[in-house]
Amino acid sequence: MKHLFIGGEWRLPTGSETITVVSPSTEEPVGQAPLSAREDVDAAVAAANAALTSGDWSTWSAGERAEAMERFADALESRATETARLVTAENGMPIAVSGPVEGLGPAGVLRYFARLARDTAWEQPRPAASGRGTTVVRREPVGVVAAVLPWNFPQSLAMFKLAPALAAGCAVVLKPAPETSLDAFQFAEAAQEAGLPAGVLNVVTGGPETGAYLVAHPGVHKVAFTGSTEAGRTIAEICGRLLRPVTLELGGKSAAIVLNDADLAATVRGLAWASLLNSGQTCYVSSRILAPRTRYDEVVEAVAELARSLPVGDPADPATRVGPLVSARQRERVETAIAKGRAQGARIATGGGRPAGLTRGWFVEPTVFAEVDNSFALAQEEIFGPVLAVIPYDDESHAVGIANDSPFGLAGTVWTSDEERGLDLARRMRTGSVGVNFYAIDLGAPFGGVKASGLGRELGPEGLEAYVSYKSVYLRK
Ligand code: NAD
Repeated sequence: MKHLFIGGEWRLPTGSETITVVSPSTEEPVGQAPLSAREDVDAAVAAANAALTSGDWSTWSAGERAEAMERFADALESRATETARLVTAENGMPIAVSGPVEGLGPAGVLRYFARLARDTAWEQPRPAASGRGTTVVRREPVGVVAAVLPWNFPQSLAMFKLAPALAAGCAVVLKPAPETSLDAFQFAEAAQEAGLPAGVLNVVTGGPETGAYLVAHPGVHKVAFTGSTEAGRTIAEICGRLLRPVTLELGGKSAAIVLNDADLAATVRGLAWASLLNSGQTCYVSSRILAPRTRYDEVVEAVAELARSLPVGDPADPATRVGPLVSARQRERVETAIAKGRAQGARIATGGGRPAGLTRGWFVEPTVFAEVDNSFALAQEEIFGPVLAVIPYDDESHAVGIANDSPFGLAGTVWTSDEERGLDLARRMRTGSVGVNFYAIDLGAPFGGVKASGLGRELGPEGLEAYVSYKSVYLRK
């Protein structure tokens, strides 16, 4: 079993409790990780504070930090194949996705923020607005960051926090989700190899209690969380009371607006990624498909055909497009949502059950519902599985109204043969991002949500700001 990574060393956990990570496709154990005790979290937070107040890190220039980040990226890249395999074993992500996204993705995020670290004005003298004197505006690290992570994209979502934190000169305590405890140690090994100073990155494995203790810890200065809206609200309340900055990337129920001029074959190819990525266990997926009433049956059939065509099975097989759900509990949630959809009167166009022939693993058939009203639970609640709802609309304004009639506002897509028309609709959607004829996160632009989808933004120069604290120094001359 792995030890904890605290203060640049592999340390034995205080207690003897462990987390067993179980393969979603075989239901067999993949490995074990320590269940951190409060003392372990105390030690990690203390090590992070020590890295900020003494030692090398606090005195490094942005250029030196950027070089260390690039070495860190190299070390992660050399482990990319093993990391992707590990993530697939832990959470069932098809290897065709985990290879590029989880294996190679994090190094790209690090390199982007290393460039940003070099290009950012960390100390900027400005003439005072009064015309008398100068003010030196400094961007300083916000301090010790508690990064609490989900299981769905454990590597890339960790790096969305770690990379800007390092660029800004912060120190981080990373708490992975219990389901994906093991891959987090890849970061620790790579950080050691890259020569990151002790305490700049610490990894404590554990469950919600470990997370709750960490986010409220007096030695933490900023919290970065991705996960469920429910846990996000609890964390926001705690941070509110503590006046602690927090960024929250939470759930979604995004809409794909298929316009009447859309090329349906191309749209459906795009929806395979935009609506069903990682077997639907992706925060931004467009799980509500909005179809013009004039082409409704055609869209339902094309989306159902897409769902039927995706190979379901062993996530380690490069041909697999839909793997198992992460846990028995997650499959139960998805099956409950499917049952609710049926009970409310939606029609199953395809799927709805468990795939034949897969007797082990937490699989659910890719499922498409038709005759869905946007008020149904199916359209209002996040499902986090391979379940799509096709909703009819009358005209563009009606489509935008349905898209915005959601407690969430994370993302969305528009499918059209006229990109200008797509951009026009994107402007009217109340979400943090919209893709026109595809969806792919751009590292150089802010990503995040409105309403119950979260607070603040990750990525881009805007994402770096969440790890920066401003100081103004007034000078006479
Ligand atoms: P969760 O929000 O309960 O857990 C996410 C992380 O937060 C884990 O590391 C967990 O240990 C920790 N955590 C949980 N409660 C906490 C608390 N009160 N204080 C501090 N840390 C806490 O997510 P889950 O139970 O794994 O998944 C449940 C649902 O969340 C899913 O069905 C899905 O709808 C949603 N989800 C969304 C995303 C996303 O990317 N937006 C990711 C994962 C899950």
